[in-house]
Amino acid sequence: MGGYGSGRRCASQETTADYRQLDVRRLQRDGVLERRYSFLWRWSRNGESVGSISICPEADRVTLKYRHGGAGEGGTDQEYPILLERTPCQYGGERVWFRCPARGCGRRVAVLYGGRIFACRHCYRLAYPCQHESRGDRAESRAWKIRERCGGWGCLFDPLFRRKGMHHRTFRRLARDYEQACSASDFAFSVKMGMSIDEVLALDQDIGGK
Ligand SMILES: [Zn+2]
Repeated sequence: MGGYGSGRRCASQETTADYRQLDVRRLQRDGVLERRYSFLWRWSRNGESVGSISICPEADRVTLKYRHGGAGEGGTDQEYPILLERTPCQYGGERVWFRCPARGCGRRVAVLYGGRIFACRHCYRLAYPCQHESRGDRAESRAWKIRERCGGWGCLFDPLFRRKGMHHRTFRRLARDYEQACSASDFAFSVKMGMSIDEVLALDQDIGGK
């Protein structure tokens, strides 16, 4: 669960202890990306706050600031930008995406997962080959199959387009299934990450664009 806090200064030092999830769709829906001052995003469990980060939005990026690993010694301050990308929606408007900040990745994703740094699930998955054949993988391959039926253009996080000649009704059904498969895949993944992300430390060195 997540929500907003009242902080507005970019300089605030907030803490995050372990696995957290940041969904750009939620931020876009709530209109906070259009602000030009920083705000606080909080995670809570059973009604209790378990972590927060400061997010400073600009036109083409958000800068994340937080402290990982607690207030004392051993904790580290983090501050780095996540680039944003905007793509047109099929029925008007635009959709905002994060670009994964891990070096060599840059994938366009809706959700970033944070331990020490926030990175996409693909980056974290690399560290966990045992996750093959999980429920999330099955959902993901279902999504890929739908993409292929619709013309195969783009990657999983690109918008789905109707293949020439495909009935609109068929496409609407596929688009619905696609959306479901993508969220099932994300959900299954985040459950797993909730148990394991603390152990993923290697990515810490891979952060780019600081
Ligand atoms: Zn990545």
